[in-house]
Amino acid sequence: MGRFTCLQEGIYRIRLQVRKGVVPFTANLYALPGDDGLLFDAGFGTRGAIAHLASALEAIEAEGEGRVREVMPSHAHWDHFSGVRPIADKRRMRVRLTEKMVPLIRTKAAFRQAYLADFKETPGGSALKKYLRKIPRRLGDEFYAAVMGIKAVTGPYTPISVGDCLSLASGRWEVLAGPGHCDVHVILWNKERGVLLGGDNVLADITTWLGPPRSDIDAYESTLKMIRDLPGLKVIYPAHGGPVEDPIRRVTDILAHRKKRMDEIRMEVFRAGRRGVSAEGIVSRYYPKINAFRKGVARGWIDTTLVYLMREGTLRRYAENGVWRYQMKDL
Ligand SMILES: [Zn+2]
Repeated sequence: MGRFTCLQEGIYRIRLQVRKGVVPFTANLYALPGDDGLLFDAGFGTRGAIAHLASALEAIEAEGEGRVREVMPSHAHWDHFSGVRPIADKRRMRVRLTEKMVPLIRTKAAFRQAYLADFKETPGGSALKKYLRKIPRRLGDEFYAAVMGIKAVTGPYTPISVGDCLSLASGRWEVLAGPGHCDVHVILWNKERGVLLGGDNVLADITTWLGPPRSDIDAYESTLKMIRDLPGLKVIYPAHGGPVEDPIRRVTDILAHRKKRMDEIRMEVFRAGRRGVSAEGIVSRYYPKINAFRKGVARGWIDTTLVYLMREGTLRRYAENGVWRYQMKDL
């Protein structure tokens, strides 16, 4: 694989791959050269990833369209921000963050609190029991963080806000809010070219992960509709996988898929009757054969959907042996 791909004049994609870890993982970063120039997303913080990224950026600058001196993550998920500090240090780049990102990614403790620890809310039990339940998860988190190179974005930064515009070699890019997958997600819109750097919101071949605590289905649907209605939208360059060449159709398909999933979960809970059903129970029905790690990943959208249905007033839940069981509200 080459170091980078020129997608359009002044828009470059850099692919990072993590070969270690439980699942192979690829991330797309976008370099937009200019007077200062911007790297949108920074991927993983492993040494190999940073070395690859640094050499790709050198090569892109050598193309002569400008420099790439700033770096900004699209949102507060580790596979987007972990490379920010290391690449900024290595190449003396300026870090750009929105104020909403700041409390989530500045320290390891903040990141852990926002995502890793207490990821799955478990009701009931004594304080000791709760503590003991956390240990295996905590060890798992530490292992995962080390292997994947999860790193907080420490050090100085320059604020950037939704509505700000960047003038780069490829034209004007507006910073738009795109919450849903992650509440602090921002995306970059180039109106003249009809190009959107959409982060994790719209992926070509896989379904966007949703899960607590930062995902929200309402917000996700609003963001998808906003993207669908961008005037002159031609292509979305996503954070994972290939370009979305037929964006309106893809977004329409995703909206339909989410609605179908929502109806299915409602039906699962309805069928469970008075006894109710746990999130784990629904996961096992959907994915009877996958391993525990994949189950954890898959469980995200189910938890997020259950939260949505509770907020909507369709469901309620009760605790039994340290597990939430969901039932229809009007039973
Ligand atoms: Zn993400």
